[in-house]
Amino acid sequence: MSEVKFFYGGNVPLEMHKVRIVQKLNLVPIERRLEAINEAGNNTFLLKNSDIFLDMLTDSGVNAMSDKQLAAMMEADDSYAGSATFTKLENKIKEIFGMEYFLPAHQGRACENIISQAYVKPGDIIPMNYHFTTTKAHITLNGGLVEEIIIDEGLNPTSDYPFKGNMDVEKLKGLISKHGAEKIAYVRLETGTNLIGGQPHSLENMQEIRKVCDEFGLMLVLDASLLADNLYFIKTREEKCKDMSIREITRAMADLSDIIYFSARKLGCARGGGICIRDKDIYMKLRELITLYEGFLTYGGMSVREIEAITVGLDETMDENMINQGPQFIAYMCEKLQESGVPIITPPGGLGCHLNAMEFVDHIPQSQYPAGALASALYIVSGVRGMERGTISEQRDENGNEHFANMELLRLAMPRRVFTLSQVNYAVDRIKWLYENRKLIGGITFVEEPKVLRFFFGKLTAVSDWQTKLAAKFRADFGDSL
Ligand SMILES: *Cc1c(COP(=O)(O)O)cnc(C)c1O
Repeated sequence: MSEVKFFYGGNVPLEMHKVRIVQKLNLVPIERRLEAINEAGNNTFLLKNSDIFLDMLTDSGVNAMSDKQLAAMMEADDSYAGSATFTKLENKIKEIFGMEYFLPAHQGRACENIISQAYVKPGDIIPMNYHFTTTKAHITLNGGLVEEIIIDEGLNPTSDYPFKGNMDVEKLKGLISKHGAEKIAYVRLETGTNLIGGQPHSLENMQEIRKVCDEFGLMLVLDASLLADNLYFIKTREEKCKDMSIREITRAMADLSDIIYFSARKLGCARGGGICIRDKDIYMKLRELITLYEGFLTYGGMSVREIEAITVGLDETMDENMINQGPQFIAYMCEKLQESGVPIITPPGGLGCHLNAMEFVDHIPQSQYPAGALASALYIVSGVRGMERGTISEQRDENGNEHFANMELLRLAMPRRVFTLSQVNYAVDRIKWLYENRKLIGGITFVEEPKVLRFFFGKLTAVSDWQTKLAAKFRADFGDSL
């Protein structure tokens, strides 16, 4: 779609696929949405799918599969050991990443469990551009300490810097000289950094990190869950890579890594995960843990059907016309919102569009969870489900004090190839309306607060009757419209 120009102008993302299976959606009236969000304790994780119109919670396990993936699933070879289906995936990994060994795992966090158990000792430091929730949890569980060394630009909400996911190489050297290389378990680079808005790193940055790793004998571990988007950004934003194919860029990244692990709920548009390894000793060390926690080495907790789907999905990831759909839809959505001054994270990244709640509802103090309140308000006025990525997603400290997040974001994920442009336009319309009426949005407060992972199960309530007033304003402006 990147090659198609429109005669009458405009930047319209053009899909290079057609839709052949559809699922009916419900858009329930605002009165029901008001009820539903309160039944869910203002926590979008607790909403029921039957009350949701556009599900923009996550891209995990909900990307559209291709006809070829579905066809491959039908011929999966189901056997406990020695499955031909597994051999296909193993060969595809060798072909794409050039890595000799592959270990299957049931999803991304399972890979993190295995790698952390094998390499993280109490007191170890694990430098990374930025953490992901499950990554940090597994490292901490094994007594390790996460050190985030994203470049300063990475935490600047509005920027036109193309690679906000880059690691600060000087800070990496600083950590090594402060703690000594023997205290560093490994260096972790997360491609398409999830929690700071799906922002990419450059290939050049990865080459610089590799140099430091070589100098100090450190292992470089790549979390490639969001690789597809990052590949697209390297191809389109990194001058030196513009003539490289997606396959060549992938191979260049793999050649710089010792271990690549991924969640196949994202990469390859299927479900599952795995660890790609270059070195035999590392493979032998991780292998035992796979059989202990995941399953035998030729399935690792996955169904063989999913393994078939991953193999085809990885191959399709090497096609620019397949992987550009997500980032281009996100860029379109961000552009439309910016035209009306809606505060979003820029430049647009992968994964989704991120509303900056700190600005959107700057009258709500962080103690009343601006991003959570915005998630609740947007659901009420649109039936669109987003995910709070702010203070509710953090944990209280050991004294029970709130730990305020660096950013208060409402993430509107764009599952790949799932929504149409008119659905994106609908979401944009309702967000713009909400922005004009933002002063009607109020805070929320916990009524049930679990100690662990409170963002999954916690229940909150509005601090005033602002939700009823917001719904009344919606009715006044939209009449009988859903
Ligand atoms: C989703 C994700 C994970 C965890 O993968 P799961 O399959 O959900 O367990 C790890 N790292 C990144 C960057 C992710 O986006």
